[in-house]
Amino acid sequence: MTVWDDLVGQEHVVEQLQAAADSARAGLQAGSAMTHAWLFTGPPGSGRSIAARAFAAALQCTSSGPAGCGACPGCTAVLHGAHPDVSRVVPDGLHLVIRDAREIIARSSRLPTTGHWQVTLIEDADRMEERTSNTVLKAVEEPPPHSVLLLCAPSAADLLPTIRSRCRLVPLRTPPTEAVAEVLQRRDGVDQGMAVFAARASQGHVGRARRLATDEDARRERQDVLSMVRSLGSVGAALVAAKDLVDAAGEQAGQVAQALDASEREKLSQALGVGATGKGVTGGRGTAGALKELEKRQKSRGTRTQRDALDRALVDLTAFYRDVLTLQLGTGSQLVHTDLGEQAASIARATTPESTLRRIDAVLHCRTALDSNVAPLLAVEAMALGLRAG
Ligand SMILES: [Zn+2]
Repeated sequence: MTVWDDLVGQEHVVEQLQAAADSARAGLQAGSAMTHAWLFTGPPGSGRSIAARAFAAALQCTSSGPAGCGACPGCTAVLHGAHPDVSRVVPDGLHLVIRDAREIIARSSRLPTTGHWQVTLIEDADRMEERTSNTVLKAVEEPPPHSVLLLCAPSAADLLPTIRSRCRLVPLRTPPTEAVAEVLQRRDGVDQGMAVFAARASQGHVGRARRLATDEDARRERQDVLSMVRSLGSVGAALVAAKDLVDAAGEQAGQVAQALDASEREKLSQALGVGATGKGVTGGRGTAGALKELEKRQKSRGTRTQRDALDRALVDLTAFYRDVLTLQLGTGSQLVHTDLGEQAASIARATTPESTLRRIDAVLHCRTALDSNVAPLLAVEAMALGLRAG
């Protein structure tokens, strides 16, 4: 076992990171320079943050063999999220805010306690607000000698050029279906048929593939989304289908919120001593402010969860119409939604490639609209009507 085991279909990245971690260790002994900022890019689900975490582990590896043995105290602590010199910054909501950035700067300037480096991993670095980016830029421009900053984003273009140009790039690719199916069987004990189905239906998104393969609810949600294409008979039906889709995404966000919100509030209340009485108990303005701040973060997270659920639905819909197009053009390519082959075939026979392209456009347009903060229901209604038209 090594720290790279969870990286699926990224052999070239493993090679690059292994060599970098080995030479960082050699450089540490020789006193030569280390690259202090790394940018992991790749489509969602390709394993950006998994690669960054594995690299962090390899950097803190204490074995005498190749860096990243996966078994020494350094590696295992990082992989379990318990290494004192590796911190992870994940935006709760839609954005990485300035407070997170200040935390990043403060952490990266600390000396490592037990490890070789002070590693800070920023997931979703593309969600940095401008003010945040500028603060992080300072840490990238003048890095403390022991600090290593690992940034993750869908593409290099998602970051300020000034940050990007100072980072060593680690580009991940969409893992091939076979590699995803193989890992589902090996690691999660999924049987072959289900593994192949889930790997295809998830289009190389490893986490999504695992959920589809192991969680019946996830499979049902996907079916619900794709059944939308059957319920576009009239304008009224299309609008109902749109509302159902948005409601379902809201419901998923609600489930996440339910699981997290109350316990977070409880923890904060305890930390602030709310509900306690007696001498030395402070309350009042500071407490109310902190609770309000938490509520704001929770609300922002709710919006993001709903948006992520909708986006997943749109990715599935796009793939469905791409399947239709594949059949219409007779390219012979493998379908994504193999279980809906017959349905795709009947739509393929009844419509033209031009109209299929227009439908794909309607879905992509909806994604863009959601990205630019159009109200979800409006955007999805427009899409549903676009999917309907001739
Ligand atoms: Zn190790």
